[in-house]
Amino acid sequence: MEERGSPDGDLARSLEQGPEGPETPIQVVLRVRPMSAAELRRGEQSALHCSGTRTLQVSPPGGGPDVAFRFGAVLDAARTQEDVFRACGVRRLGELALRGFSCTVFTFGQTGSGKTYTLSGPPPQGEGVPVPPNLAGIMQRTFAWLLDRVQHLGAPVTLRASYLEIYNEQVRDLLSVGSPRPLPVRWSKTRGFYVEQLRVVEFGSLGALMELLQMGLSRRRSSAHTLNQASSRSHALLTLYISRQTMPPGAPGEPPVGGKLCFVDLAGSEKVAATGSRGELMLEANSINRSLLALGHCISLLLDPQRKQSHIPFRDSKLTKLLADSLGGRGVTLMVACVSPSAQCLPETLSTLRYASRAQRVTTRPQAPKSPKQPQRLEIEILQLQEENRCLRSQLGQIDPKASRLSRARVAWAQRNLYGMLQEFMLENERLRKENSQLQSSRDRARDEQRILAQQVQELERRLLCTCSDHQPHPGPAPCPCVMAPAPPCHALPPLCSCLCLCPLCRAPLAHWACARGEHHLPQVFGPKAPGGMPLAAQPPPWAPPCNPGSAKCLRERSPSDWTETRVLAEMLTEEEVVPSAPPLPTGPPNTSPVLRGGAAVPNLARRLEALRDQIGSSLRRGRSQPPPSEATRSPGRVLPPC
Ligand code: ADP
Ligand code: MG
Repeated sequence: MEERGSPDGDLARSLEQGPEGPETPIQVVLRVRPMSAAELRRGEQSALHCSGTRTLQVSPPGGGPDVAFRFGAVLDAARTQEDVFRACGVRRLGELALRGFSCTVFTFGQTGSGKTYTLSGPPPQGEGVPVPPNLAGIMQRTFAWLLDRVQHLGAPVTLRASYLEIYNEQVRDLLSVGSPRPLPVRWSKTRGFYVEQLRVVEFGSLGALMELLQMGLSRRRSSAHTLNQASSRSHALLTLYISRQTMPPGAPGEPPVGGKLCFVDLAGSEKVAATGSRGELMLEANSINRSLLALGHCISLLLDPQRKQSHIPFRDSKLTKLLADSLGGRGVTLMVACVSPSAQCLPETLSTLRYASRAQRVTTRPQAPKSPKQPQRLEIEILQLQEENRCLRSQLGQIDPKASRLSRARVAWAQRNLYGMLQEFMLENERLRKENSQLQSSRDRARDEQRILAQQVQELERRLLCTCSDHQPHPGPAPCPCVMAPAPPCHALPPLCSCLCLCPLCRAPLAHWACARGEHHLPQVFGPKAPGGMPLAAQPPPWAPPCNPGSAKCLRERSPSDWTETRVLAEMLTEEEVVPSAPPLPTGPPNTSPVLRGGAAVPNLARRLEALRDQIGSSLRRGRSQPPPSEATRSPGRVLPPC
């Protein structure tokens, strides 16, 4: 069938004008279904007559003036499904959806008037049984046309679909994996009203889309009543989302244009008395009627030129929320009003015709796809805002320039000082870290030296005892004091001689008292005060890093806290109780061997060592003046150290 008087041309021309184009009226086409077999059996008469392609004449029964209604297209009972598809203008909407517009097709009318039939064909004859191709409705035909169109576009297009129903004021996902559960309808500034957690399925072929349609149709609520054996008890919305890469394809990073084509199959208004609905059917009917009433109310308000700018109660029902954009927003909308020709249905038919003719006076302002120039506009806007911000700041400064200058200076000072302080802290921190690591390595060295010294002292002590016991059996004028009154362990800790003299017999380092030149190499024994008048404990320890006289941070100038750790260590090492294993305090450079440094730190120890030296010296002299003891005279348990 030829497109006769199609409104597509006007619509397309108005939309070509761009995003800020003129207000576009909702396109309305009328479909009159044929008389059903039951109606003919009951002998019902037709009250409707088509006059031309756009006008419908209504002849009230019992005589009375005819009433004429004019629509974009009037499709009488003789028209096939294919005729309806071609004439209703849905292909133009498909084109607009491909260009990124948001488009809606919805059927409207009394229950049993052929809404579902017009959109999706006769009710399915069984599970998985497809609709015969010649009876396929607007949806199937549009799907086939769209996929064919996409194939010839030459640009990549992503197609997705969602399918929901509003049943008793609850939104249910007809494509959900499990059983449908109620989903919330939300609103956001960018998306408007939308269904949260709705499953959106991507598809790539007509077969896949048809399967989704069949799945949704089979899950949709329907019941039988007097006027319709397969009456839809819910409003169903199938939406195709079209994401198309804009041309030319070479533009990198360009966001895809997103269009939408939504098919809405409304549940029909019904007179409960006429349909004989009881129980659950009656509840469903009331719910359907309530939402349709809300829809009618919104349409009425949208038509009122004075009230159009005021509040439209789209929030009154889920249906009006989800149709808000199609009716009063930025979408392109096509309404297919369906009526029964039977004179018995005339009151509902007249109501539908009145609504439909009013609806075609409702205008929307179609939103064009987002232009790639939009980011540039945003950038310009940001620049303008920044400029405005700067002006406002300067104006604020002019109001109290003195205060403003002062506060600016304060901020700058604080920033400068904080930054400077931070830098100083960082440098100081780094310096302290280095010094700390030097101190630690010095401390480790000192501990090693301490250990070696302790071993040497023990060795010497052992030899001394051997020597004493060696001479013990020989009579003499003065017996060895070690035997008569054994010295406490600290007595047997002679400082090594600073000249590094070795024993002529065993080649071990000699103690100071045993050294022949010991007079010239006295171990350095300090009194309570070290040379220079500095108290011993106040002297820097050997592990302290060398003090650079040029450095501002000479160790002696440090605060007590700097030396807390090292002073404790120094004191620990100079305690008389721990002298046996402690190194002598330094008098030479820190790297000098502890043997060379020599000297005891405690005067007590020095005195004891002197006494010990005298005793051992006299013992040795006695030993030289007497012949060496025979093997038999030696004590059996004693073994001389190897010499
Ligand atoms: P509605 O959805 O408006 O309640 P349906 O689409 O279910 O009505 O149609 C009710 C009955 O009328 C169905 O049995 C359907 O097959 C039949 N019917 C509707 N329109 C037509 C038509 N144009 N040609 C033939 N049968 C139709
Ligand atoms: Mg229906």
